[in-house]
Amino acid sequence: MPSSSDVEPIGLKKQKVVVLLSGGLDSNLSTRLVLNQEIEVEAVAVKTPFCDFDCGKGCGHRVKEVADSLGIRLKTVYFGDQYLAMLKKPKHGFGSGMNPCIDCRAMMYKAAKDHMENIGASYLVTGEVLSQRPMSQHRQALRIIEEESDLAGKVIRPLSAGKLPPSDAEKIGFIDRSKLRSIAGRSRKEQLALAKEFGIQDPPNSAGGCLLTDPSFSKRVYDLYEHTDGVPTLNDVELLKVGRHFRLSAHAKLIVGRNQSENEIMKFLCLNDDYSFEAIEFTGPLGILRIKKGSDLSNDLMQIAGGIVGRYSDAPRGQIVKMTLFHQQKESAIDCQMLDNSEVRKLSI
Ligand code: SF4
Repeated sequence: MPSSSDVEPIGLKKQKVVVLLSGGLDSNLSTRLVLNQEIEVEAVAVKTPFCDFDCGKGCGHRVKEVADSLGIRLKTVYFGDQYLAMLKKPKHGFGSGMNPCIDCRAMMYKAAKDHMENIGASYLVTGEVLSQRPMSQHRQALRIIEEESDLAGKVIRPLSAGKLPPSDAEKIGFIDRSKLRSIAGRSRKEQLALAKEFGIQDPPNSAGGCLLTDPSFSKRVYDLYEHTDGVPTLNDVELLKVGRHFRLSAHAKLIVGRNQSENEIMKFLCLNDDYSFEAIEFTGPLGILRIKKGSDLSNDLMQIAGGIVGRYSDAPRGQIVKMTLFHQQKESAIDCQMLDNSEVRKLSI
């Protein structure tokens, strides 16, 4: 007669799980470890305003490809204004840059939880590896993220299961813990070996695509929040991703395109209240001067902005540059004294 531990509770495998899929290697491997146990899986991928699927740095653009290769359904969730509001004051603070990893992961878990409720899934699967990332993957952080998202005990981490307390799914035998892994730390050796076992060709490297961990981009984000009453807009954030940025005053910021494609993006992002500058007689970039709502733009500030945009034009150094100024559908022309490099550098963010 079989003991109770040999008996699989009826219907358990019929329960589904949702995996947070990033397109990187770890969530791919975690999903495979779960699929190997004949558990039905659906995926959620989250795009934040700072983790761009098209940035070319990260793995987000691969997510659809990975879901297809795994044969699972994928739902993509876009975080927008609510993410920017969280970033103003994340409950659990920032990492080494402007990355609020614990709050960010909790938001991702919540998005996955919504999908779990919609499709009747019982557990969340993630590719997290204990101690791989300093802010969000140590024991206490993993526990906090579960609690914040109301998923305590419901998260299966197949790559590190043996190093962590068993999830409810492991406790009741829904998933066989002995077939999960005990990986911890930053080395990717074990993941690469597992990728080989699964026959994954060209596993992606571990570089993340989150701009909030980039020190120079973080400086821009910090400056934006410092000088915004309330919460910045998605347009403000998109503008952070292009051009050179200059803080001209507490109320005014200038963005200067670095090449034609950035100029095009900036034209698209330019708002009616912005001031845009372009040199008339020489080839040069587009400059956008954005000032805080309700603030006045002094002539001095206008001259400084034009002087910086002129500096990046082909006009000879030190010259007065004729600029077109466009504001609220009106065009005018102004002469601006080009700033020298040291003045320009001082204002750079
Ligand atoms: S690195 Fe970026 S996307 Fe990843 S958890 Fe941290 S803030 Fe979120």
